[in-house]
Amino acid sequence: MSELEERVAAVRESISRAAVRAGRDPLGITTIAVTKFHPAALVSQLYEAGIRDVGENRQQEAEAKAAELVGLDDLTWHFVGQLQSKKARRVARFAGVIHSVDRDSVIDALAGADRPVSCFVQVALSDDDHRGGAPIADVERLAERIVASDGLSLAGVMAVAPLGAEPRPAFARLRSVSDRIRAIDPLATAISAGMSDDFEDAILEGATHLRIGTAITGKRPATP
Ligand SMILES: *Cc1c(COP(=O)(O)O)cnc(C)c1O
Repeated sequence: MSELEERVAAVRESISRAAVRAGRDPLGITTIAVTKFHPAALVSQLYEAGIRDVGENRQQEAEAKAAELVGLDDLTWHFVGQLQSKKARRVARFAGVIHSVDRDSVIDALAGADRPVSCFVQVALSDDDHRGGAPIADVERLAERIVASDGLSLAGVMAVAPLGAEPRPAFARLRSVSDRIRAIDPLATAISAGMSDDFEDAILEGATHLRIGTAITGKRPATP
């Protein structure tokens, strides 16, 4: 096994163990390998290792990689980075899932895109965090707007654990937001939470989509 395959296997193993601890079926958890800054060749290697979901956070970089790997047609590109409304349409051309929908202007830009887009509402779990996300008070309204928009479906909610705080209570807050979103759309059951350092806590709080970078890819290059 290559080092990359070993890391993929080790992460899968940890996910299964955490799922069992949480009394959950590991098959209900989607692992997205976050490949930002890495070349398209690494995405190909991950594909060989069985990965079918990859995450990117910058439009230009992601678009170039998706174009290079267009032949891998059962690979799903997830966009996880902050999104400006003027770039949203371009992102929807290659990304089937967008995890960072946090404002009306992005929803309006995505509505009626050339192909259907699955959307997560990104939730800000702390006030002093500038990594994107809508205030909790706005999440239901944004979810309703997605549901009412042509070509968009509501997957659920997404968050990044706040810096310098215990992740688990933050993920518990996200889970309660998820409960409210389900009242708007019973199909919107997904919770995108958990990165390399905190995915076990996220699984314990119901995460269905993990966004894992370095634990799978190894250290990120300094520039893409
Ligand atoms: C980079 C990134 C990740 C992955 O982070 P790691 O700590 O490398 O696992 C997950 N989510 C978002 C939004 C990211 O930007």
